[in-house]
Amino acid sequence: MIKYGEICLRGANRGLFERRLQDVIQRRLSAWHVRVFRENGRFLVESGEEAPDWERIMALTVKTLGVIGVSPCVKIDDQSLPNLCETALAYLRLHAPEEAFTFKIETKRADKRYPVPSLEVSAEIGGFILEHMPRAKVDVHSPQVRLRVELRNHAYVYAKTIQGVGGLPYGSSGRGVLLLSGGIDSPVAGFLTAKRGVDLTAVYFHSPPYTSERAKDKAADLAKALSSYTGAVKLYVVPFTDIQLRLHENVRLEKLTILLKRAMLRTAERIAFQENCQCLITGDSVGQVASQTLHSLLAVQSAVRLPILRPLAGMDKQEIIDWAKKIETYDISIRPYEDCCTIFVAEHPETKPNASAIEREERRAGDLEALIREAVRQAEIVKIGEGSHEHYRWN
Ligand code: ATP
Ligand code: MG
Repeated sequence: MIKYGEICLRGANRGLFERRLQDVIQRRLSAWHVRVFRENGRFLVESGEEAPDWERIMALTVKTLGVIGVSPCVKIDDQSLPNLCETALAYLRLHAPEEAFTFKIETKRADKRYPVPSLEVSAEIGGFILEHMPRAKVDVHSPQVRLRVELRNHAYVYAKTIQGVGGLPYGSSGRGVLLLSGGIDSPVAGFLTAKRGVDLTAVYFHSPPYTSERAKDKAADLAKALSSYTGAVKLYVVPFTDIQLRLHENVRLEKLTILLKRAMLRTAERIAFQENCQCLITGDSVGQVASQTLHSLLAVQSAVRLPILRPLAGMDKQEIIDWAKKIETYDISIRPYEDCCTIFVAEHPETKPNASAIEREERRAGDLEALIREAVRQAEIVKIGEGSHEHYRWN
């Protein structure tokens, strides 16, 4: 049973959210013979297979954006009270932690046509359990087992809910280009934006021979890690050496980082138009390094027209690291390969660049447009398949 949704969703938005999420779940579970259907406010995944791979199905659903909880449950067609009692008993015999345990029954009557009020259903089942499991005790405040009975088109019995990743369904907010370096920050920025429903196309700027193949593999592995939340991700590996050398040879070293950043954004914007995207996404965090001061952010702004989303703007490094660990990108990010911003960097890059001086400096490198067009044309485009789902504990 899949619980979903943002509390603020109403009316037409809710319908869109549900349809989108159902599509995503169906697509992500297409490797299995399962049926995904909705009963007021919940999705149910039902398998006709003899030994469904529930572990992996659970792992995948808890990591699906928009899902707030997943419960392994038993579905019952016959909703009569005696049958509910028997099912609850069988469930507890199988799942109770020990012979003597405390429990509480919580009934939710989503279908108000059900003839017995929820409290009475709970009392009836509770009494039946006490009769048949003499060492069990009721504890309404902090029971070891909170057995839930939901009465819908069918009845569902479950005791455990695994927290889901939350957010909006993938793709429900539009599309964006993520500038994905091999670092710690940009994968987190990508995840947080995807979590608000933005479908990602990732772009990695590769500068051979100054950056190694391993640095490129790292970006691909990061895209793979992100895909365990989003489904397959398209990654553009853009050859950046020519642009980088052109700038390096023509501009002052202390302005190089900002100018590289502008060139990256321009290139990413070109890809964004090609991919029907409405925004660019970076891992900038205000004040973290010289290229991320407000003056620097202002100096790169005029390079592009699309909005640049910076979901890490207000985060401390430690908070970003905590996220990276949680989404399992951290171990990949700390592999030691150089990225293209760490070569040719000035010892003291400008921290307060002047936006118009930067644009003037850029003109010294001539027209970059042809180089940018060529870089996009020569980009290697890889579709990174869905990541593995071995760990399903989200919280
Ligand atoms: P990160 O940890 O994400 O690499 P950073 O702290 O190294 O960030 P910068 O090098 O200033 O900071 O990069 C800022 C942002 O620019 C990155 O978060 C990323 O979005 C983008 N970026 C930098 N280098 C690349 C690259 N080689 N390919 C794609 N995007 C890049
Ligand atoms: Mg970096």
